[in-house]
Amino acid sequence: MTKKPPATNDAVVPLRPTRPCPICGKPSDRTYYPFCSKRCADRDLHGWLSGAYAIPAVEAEREDEDERGD
Ligand SMILES: [Zn+2]
Repeated sequence: MTKKPPATNDAVVPLRPTRPCPICGKPSDRTYYPFCSKRCADRDLHGWLSGAYAIPAVEAEREDEDERGD
């Protein structure tokens, strides 16, 4: 009388496919959608504010400011 339970398809899958983070390419997080983390969300915001959003460079926070000389 050993009856095996029916195979369950309880695979852990997201309800919807997540978009990759536009900043680093990691799967986005619901909390910080469409980013993967607050870090990337902040980075994106910072990029917009500094007008350097088009620049894909990362970790380039030490840009010289001597461009606004004179
Ligand atoms: Zn990210």
